[in-house]
Amino acid sequence: MTPQEFDAAFPKVMGWIERTLTAHQALARPAGSKNFKRLPRYFSRAQIEAARFVAVDRIPLPPLSSIGLTRFKQFERGDYDGITYLDTYFLKRPKAGDENLHFHEMIHVVQWRLLGAEFFLALYAGGLERFGYRDSPLEKMAYDAQDMFARGESFNAEEFVAEKLTRVSI
Ligand SMILES: [Zn+2]
Repeated sequence: MTPQEFDAAFPKVMGWIERTLTAHQALARPAGSKNFKRLPRYFSRAQIEAARFVAVDRIPLPPLSSIGLTRFKQFERGDYDGITYLDTYFLKRPKAGDENLHFHEMIHVVQWRLLGAEFFLALYAGGLERFGYRDSPLEKMAYDAQDMFARGESFNAEEFVAEKLTRVSI
């Protein structure tokens, strides 16, 4: 994707994200409302309080093809259990009680916060294009952290993301 293509698509994607978040506002619940026992050992109270989640039947994905980004067709066709936009993540309803998945999406919330929306989307799109979904750097970081969490390793998840981001390049 060229910088020109990104610049043209960015406001459209952000517009879609803002409309999507507004449309789901009434259904959004604080990330802390599930009272997970382990999340607070990895994320600060402020970060948990700043995040929200929405349980949905279908994960909302931006209409990238109709925005002109046809090269992401494969991503658009994917079936995801969760996705994060800014400080809000969407989870498939049957997965809304899965602490590992909340952890994964919380990693993305931290990425969005540390990178800012424009850098996050540029990095995410660039990674998707070069490495595919699972190995794109921001996903790989989230999956690696999720694996460590599932194994019971103890670490500061926000510092983990901050440290990994210093080494991410596309
Ligand atoms: Zn992810």
